[in-house]
Amino acid sequence: MLPVIALVGRPNVGKSTLFNRLTRTRDALVADFPGLTRDRKYGQARSDDYEFIVVDTGGIDGSETGIEVEMAEQSLLAIEEADVVLFLVDARAGMTVADQAIADHLRKQDKTILLVANKTDGIDADSHCAEFYQLSLGEVFHIAASHGRGVTSLIEIALQPVIEEYNKLHGIEVNVLDENDDEFSEIYENDEDLEDYNPEDKPIKLAIIGRPNVGKSTLTNRILGEDRVIVYDAPGTTRDSVYIPMTRNDREYILIDTAGVRKRKKVSDVVEKFSVIKTLKAIEDANVVLIVVDAREGISDQDLSLLGFTLNAGRSLVIAVNKWDGLDDYVKDRIKTELDRRLGFIDFARIHFISALHGTGVGHLFESVDEAYKSATKRVSTSMLRRIMDMAQSDHQPPMVSGRRVKFKYAHAGGYNPPIIVIHGNQVHKLPTSYKRYLMNYYRKALNVMGTPIKIEFREGD
Ligand code: GDP
Ligand code: GDP
Repeated sequence: MLPVIALVGRPNVGKSTLFNRLTRTRDALVADFPGLTRDRKYGQARSDDYEFIVVDTGGIDGSETGIEVEMAEQSLLAIEEADVVLFLVDARAGMTVADQAIADHLRKQDKTILLVANKTDGIDADSHCAEFYQLSLGEVFHIAASHGRGVTSLIEIALQPVIEEYNKLHGIEVNVLDENDDEFSEIYENDEDLEDYNPEDKPIKLAIIGRPNVGKSTLTNRILGEDRVIVYDAPGTTRDSVYIPMTRNDREYILIDTAGVRKRKKVSDVVEKFSVIKTLKAIEDANVVLIVVDAREGISDQDLSLLGFTLNAGRSLVIAVNKWDGLDDYVKDRIKTELDRRLGFIDFARIHFISALHGTGVGHLFESVDEAYKSATKRVSTSMLRRIMDMAQSDHQPPMVSGRRVKFKYAHAGGYNPPIIVIHGNQVHKLPTSYKRYLMNYYRKALNVMGTPIKIEFREGD
């Protein structure tokens, strides 16, 4: 499970700067959920060997009266959902009343809080930061978010407890990946060792995600059978999904139900029911993601953000356009045109038009789920990957870069779920995006892979 780091602090201390720095390396999509989560921003982030989710809680203006109320409203859920909270202060501005108010609040939380003094570039950090010890939050970490200084080691420290906990749970002694590329490829070339490759025996973990009210619960209940009453009494916080094992046509699945807890709690306000973190974790933990959208609402920005996260995570994907009942042909045509326009960038995912309420089309979803899983875990020999590379190269030569032609030499598998193809060659890092896309589509067609993204990694040299 991905750890979650929340950034808290008054406006202007550098939260967005840090957020952008942490999410940038991963080319991450930032999800903005207006209305649902107010000012919070979520991103998938990576620092050295560690992947995590980072949440920018938006500014807390402590100078306003009723800081507690503000805190409660704006950031409480983010703090609650986080494994670690980074409380940012501005080393140049010095300690403010707002900082104190926020610190008072944070000290009451049962959370790992790290106090981080930002903007320490070009100043004597030690003398500027000394006063922040008065906040009684322990050590003051120095960073300069805009320069990146201190950020990597801060994240390492922040994630340490989470990583240790994880290792304890899984009996792992060392969990730090040695990201030496060549070593990785050696590991991956030994296909049998791949954890995710075992399509026949392992249950497929299927996450059902989507915005509130699109019909996730209705669909889950439909899939599980109408008369089955699901009682959710699994303990947990708002960020936990419910895992439901099921069998269908002799195939085992585990449904990751992101809507369940909400129904159990019967919370009245829809806004508070939707947990982005819960959804992100479900995506990360799934083999295949089934995203449900509401035909009557069209594709919203939130839908696109969720799709973006799914793509970023490299998950297989099936799209269900729900509430397809009772629409006339004109409306159906209009919706399909709109889908084409907004989802054109996802050309590998099957789209199903269903009615969870009446059960129409629900059975067929599983054909695509199975197909997507199979595609994602498909094993392809090195010689075949190489043949396809040669064919693609001779059908359409790579361009010249700085007077020399980009040349591919060798290809092999770099992993599964999603399939990763590693291509070695000369100047491959300079390939234009258009050629990369061409290559990807070529592989997709040649391998007949549907429902999963394909990743191509380029390595300079032989
Ligand atoms: P937020 O309101 O907490 O999200 O703060 P921002 O990230 O928007 O930053 C506020 C201002 O501080 C911007 O002008 C940033 O360029 C600046 N800033 C952020 N980090 C640093 C830093 O490490 N050093 C310096 N000198 N300025 C910074
Ligand atoms: P969730 O928040 O995504 O779990 O959505 P729910 O399953 O609670 O459904 C929200 C509302 O949409 C409920 O009133 C459902 O009865 C309704 N709904 C769900 N699926 C369908 C459908 O296929 N057709 C129609 N017409 N309504 C649906």
